[in-house]
Amino acid sequence: MRTTNPMIVLRHGEVYDPSPVGSCDLLLGGGKILAMGPKLPTMPSELSVEEVDVTGLKVIPGLIDAHVHVTGGGGESGFSTRVPRAALSEFTRAGITSVVGLLGADGTTRTIRDLVATTMGLREEGLSAWCYTGSYQIPVPTLTGSVRDDIVYVDPIIGVGEVAISDHRSSQPTLDEILRLASEAYTAGMISQKAGVLHFHLGDGERGLELIRQALKQAEIPTRVYHPTHVNRQVRLFEEAMTLADQGVTVDVTAFPDADEGLMAHDAIHQWIDNKRPIEQITCSSDGAGCLPTFDDQGNMVAMGVGDPISLTHTLQQLLELGHALETILPIFTTNVARVMRLSGKGQLQTSAHADVVCLDQNNQVHHVLCNGKWMIRHGEPVHVGTFERKEQL
Ligand SMILES: [Zn+2]
Repeated sequence: MRTTNPMIVLRHGEVYDPSPVGSCDLLLGGGKILAMGPKLPTMPSELSVEEVDVTGLKVIPGLIDAHVHVTGGGGESGFSTRVPRAALSEFTRAGITSVVGLLGADGTTRTIRDLVATTMGLREEGLSAWCYTGSYQIPVPTLTGSVRDDIVYVDPIIGVGEVAISDHRSSQPTLDEILRLASEAYTAGMISQKAGVLHFHLGDGERGLELIRQALKQAEIPTRVYHPTHVNRQVRLFEEAMTLADQGVTVDVTAFPDADEGLMAHDAIHQWIDNKRPIEQITCSSDGAGCLPTFDDQGNMVAMGVGDPISLTHTLQQLLELGHALETILPIFTTNVARVMRLSGKGQLQTSAHADVVCLDQNNQVHHVLCNGKWMIRHGEPVHVGTFERKEQL
């Protein structure tokens, strides 16, 4: 009898786990990778295994995007500038199979309640999804009234963020406030075995990463707790970030659609590799459905863009065009993120890992996507869409 989510065998793909393992078959079932090998046996017909030939395609782990405004971000120039939420297929088309959602500048009209519900909704639709409690602000908006309780007791909440520093929209947090938050996240992570990260939004301010450097100097909290993002928004800030890596911090670059005064994510990663910075200490995220505003010196918004999950895929493609090997750059979008976010079974292709699989075509375009063993994209087109997406509009 055929089940609604049958087993699938992907044959003859060029597999990167993210390391290159050559031509390999993958047997997927029950949401997991059940077996991998150069030539898996023919499956008995009683099992109704779907055979899919992926000859000529690169088979990679699904991308993990750890900075997505799943409820929509923005709102910094009036209520009409609140960005709508991203639909399921905007992620899957980009080869993204896992997301970490967050609130941003607006932690007032946007709530952790809505964030958690939206995150759970994405799970229902088939994506793997988590979120951070908090927003730009301190005191931090939470679900239960405490950062620690949110992380310990609320399943999808794995850390706190994006707490803004060096930004005119921040709460101008002090070092003590940052240390208290980091300690809450860290100890909650210990109790719950979750990431317990403090994910920072970096603004354009001259103070740059100074607060994080001070926190590292003054407290015993491990470096893995601190995860600053948007570090490529200015050349000077990225240079600071490259130095911060020496202290063991993993930094996150944003796949902005244009560089402005900073660096495009692929240029930043290219520099990182060129400068022989540790490849395991950099991650990349899309800022999907976030507002990408430009302000004048009085805080008036003069231009506004919207983050798009596809920018993550574009970054990967641009890095390949720059001549980087797929196996060199894949960890930035997969295993590194899974490690920082403590997402077990994510970011790699191996037996018993989750069946989050992306197949890239010869032009490195996203061709097939499976989330937890379920088809999302086939031959470049969505075959499963979000609840309110109409197929004919896609
Ligand atoms: Zn941000």
